[in-house]
Amino acid sequence: MIDGKEVAAAVRSEVASGVAEFAARHDRPPGLATVLVGDDPASQVYIGSKRKLTEEVGMRSYHHGLDASTKPGELLELVDQLGSDDAVDGILVQLPLPDGHDQDAVIARIAPEKDVDGLTATSAGLLAQGRPQLVPCTPRGVMRLLEVAGVELEGAEAVIVGRSILVGRPLASLLLNASATVTVCHSRTRDLAAVASRADVLVAAVGSPRMIGAGMVKPGATVIDVGVNRTDDGLVGDVDLESVKEIAGAITPVPGGVGPMTIAMLLANTLRAAKARAG
Ligand code: NAP
Repeated sequence: MIDGKEVAAAVRSEVASGVAEFAARHDRPPGLATVLVGDDPASQVYIGSKRKLTEEVGMRSYHHGLDASTKPGELLELVDQLGSDDAVDGILVQLPLPDGHDQDAVIARIAPEKDVDGLTATSAGLLAQGRPQLVPCTPRGVMRLLEVAGVELEGAEAVIVGRSILVGRPLASLLLNASATVTVCHSRTRDLAAVASRADVLVAAVGSPRMIGAGMVKPGATVIDVGVNRTDDGLVGDVDLESVKEIAGAITPVPGGVGPMTIAMLLANTLRAAKARAG
């Protein structure tokens, strides 16, 4: 069982040391600005944890909670303002945005050097070219888990189920950059079980409770479950943990696997952005 909580705590502790060093050298801590539009309860919980952990590692958190009725132009103006604020090293706009806002337009306005979610075309393009700068937090967290688990990626067959810009696509680039042979599956993939069961490293990022069963997993494979699904049995992943853990070589649980890594990597990205901005 790969313990994401433990690895995430280690990452946060590394970041805290880096933050102390940065603050001593530059007379200010790195700053992360979070923007939340509206009052979606799940988004409020996510933003609350991000702010708390930002402060715990010694960085400054600047939060902007905007009313659901905020006009698209006002949000864009705030993003521009944060882009030119010297105390702000990272900008995170909590997604999804309420109806009426153009998510792509908002992401495009984030200054690339402060794009700690790694979602701008600049960040995505650099990653696709094998020159990563700020990489989306969840895929970066997955790579750290694979590293800590000692998984050999060079030449390995890696299969990712899911092709979103948040998880599947950037992870495909990261695994390719690590010299794995990468296949990306999606809703039109013809024989998912046949493709998935070739994988030495299988990553599920779909959003469909327990869809990956033991019959889709090669014995001894490393299985990373990105999925988070709320069900009557509580939080479950995209992988049927109970059956798959019997045949996988290593597996991440849900909860306690990839989830904690995402915020840890957001903090790591903010420190990285701060250092790059400070030269
Ligand atoms: P998304 O944008 O909805 O993408 C889902 C992907 O799954 C799409 O590419 C879709 O294919 C594919 N898919 C849907 N049904 C499929 C099927 N039956 N067979 C094969 N592929 C199928 O979701 P996301 O943002 O990437 O998130 C995926 C999951 O990860 C969600 O549960 C989300 O909550 C979770 N997540 C967790 C974290 C974390 O920190 N732990 C972070 C981000 C996301 P098409 O492209 O063809 O539609």
